[in-house]
Amino acid sequence: MNRYSNIKKMVAGGDLFWSRTQDARMSGIVADNLGDGFMQVGDEKFINMCSYSYLGLDSNIEILKGAITALDSSRTLNSSTSRVRICLPLLEEAELALSDLFSVDVLTTVSCASAAAAMLPLLAAGVLTQNAPPLMVFDQSAHFCLSLMKAVCADESEVMTAPHNDLNFLEDCCKQRQRVAYIADGVYSTGGCANIPELMTLQDKYGLFVLYDEAHGLSAQGVNGCGLVLSTMGTLNNNTLIITSLNKGFGASGGAILFDSSISKPDLLRFGGPLSWSQRINTAGLGA
Ligand SMILES: *Cc1c(COP(=O)(O)O)cnc(C)c1O
Repeated sequence: MNRYSNIKKMVAGGDLFWSRTQDARMSGIVADNLGDGFMQVGDEKFINMCSYSYLGLDSNIEILKGAITALDSSRTLNSSTSRVRICLPLLEEAELALSDLFSVDVLTTVSCASAAAAMLPLLAAGVLTQNAPPLMVFDQSAHFCLSLMKAVCADESEVMTAPHNDLNFLEDCCKQRQRVAYIADGVYSTGGCANIPELMTLQDKYGLFVLYDEAHGLSAQGVNGCGLVLSTMGTLNNNTLIITSLNKGFGASGGAILFDSSISKPDLLRFGGPLSWSQRINTAGLGA
């Protein structure tokens, strides 16, 4: 038990923090949105300093108009059909627009967490590595939504946790195993950035596969806001996958998977769990 996570320990360790935070009125706040980062409780206006909307686009009028127009023209909020069978033109339009923006192939998801739940089991099973299940090395500081999938991945392949940004540890793994996949954040919620140039060297030398979570990187950096990973790498390849949120810097809603055209899109769609279930970004979100 608890080889890959320890929720009981997390709850025991976090309880006091959250009750003190709530007592200090630093959580559980219900506030109106005034736009431009301002919010209001009663007569009190304040600047939201814990927003993920790094560019303030969450209240951008053009984005809101896009949402309303799409809702009107598609005449539905959710197309409750598996997209593998039928999808709205709006979904394809949004994905093509993202594809054009970042010059890579794109599939959208309801959230970054759902992209992680869709992609990590496929990666562990070897679907992205020529049917050879890779040793799955998770960075110790990889986001919760990635770590949560360790036990699932461990049923398909072997899972290890690497000390944060320890590329010597990772290279040792590469020397010992035929295929290795490294799971990391591009920009970490806790702990700086991935060393992308060094990781590219390991990719060239050993065929290392890297899955980056760019929830914080997207829109914050690079041409068209392509993020830290794409702006450092220039382009993707068949050994790199990016998952990201469209809910943070990007200012819309949902998540996305960015991949090279050498990776089979039908494989991702048909077997990526939540990608083919009833939910995708709703029409308002796609319009946004
Ligand atoms: C916020 C965040 C997520 C979760 O994104 P959602 O779209 O809310 O699922 C995942 N990874 C990182 C690094 C994040 O900061």
